[in-house]
Amino acid sequence: MTPPLALTVAGSDSGGGAGIQADLKTMLALGVHGMSVVAAVTAQNSLGVQGYWELPPEAVRAQLDSVLSDIGADAVKTGMLASSALVETVAEVLAGVTAPVVVDPVGVSKHGDPLLAPEAVGAVRTALLPVATVATPNLWEVEQLTGVKVVDESGLHEAAEAVLALGPRWALIKGGHLPGAPVDLLSDGTTEYRFAAERHDNRHTHGTGCTLASAIASHLARGEDVVTAVRLAKEYVTGAIAAGFPLGSGIGPVDHGW
Ligand code: PLP
Repeated sequence: MTPPLALTVAGSDSGGGAGIQADLKTMLALGVHGMSVVAAVTAQNSLGVQGYWELPPEAVRAQLDSVLSDIGADAVKTGMLASSALVETVAEVLAGVTAPVVVDPVGVSKHGDPLLAPEAVGAVRTALLPVATVATPNLWEVEQLTGVKVVDESGLHEAAEAVLALGPRWALIKGGHLPGAPVDLLSDGTTEYRFAAERHDNRHTHGTGCTLASAIASHLARGEDVVTAVRLAKEYVTGAIAAGFPLGSGIGPVDHGW
């Protein structure tokens, strides 16, 4: 029998911890057939991103057309899209898709390496977020996209309102970088849900954001509603962080085999 189908449109991580590699591992672990449209290729290891190369927009459009014209998708996730030309191409195609779309508006890696050109922030704001069912910015991305700076948990509400004003149906504001126990806020502008988790004392967290967004897409592909998909995805990523392991001489990845 055909399993649920999830598609990631994102960047490749040669070290296997984040990006498309994390997405496909997450989809496999959650019982979903994973498909991947490569938007950019990074040369990357546990120490950071040494370089990246974008694919031409026509190559990304052709991959999307190949998958969607024949196989289809029950949910889509976007990650690193690198340039405004790629953001606009992907947004244009996804505007015609009925499946839910999870947008992880990737800006920089944990090591501080840029994964989105500064000129592309406007296209994420005006073209990509309006086609999102769920947007999953971290606090740095909230500030880059909306100008709202969150310093403690009380700022999560304002951040969600500012992100929702850009057009996604739901905003999941990831408060994991705030002091204290990590709290994320999910809002559709009417109802707010807070997801608290224990903080794991593990520095091997490479790929956390990609894993969370692709776990949400996987559960949406399985037919869950947004609130349930986020709750189950949070449980998955919390386990993956707890099982993160050392790799190379820097920061290791979250694990999918636990
Ligand atoms: N590389 C790629 C291709 C990514 O898409 C991302 C995040 O979305 C990263 C690296 C950064 O991962 P992290 O910030 O978890 O180290």
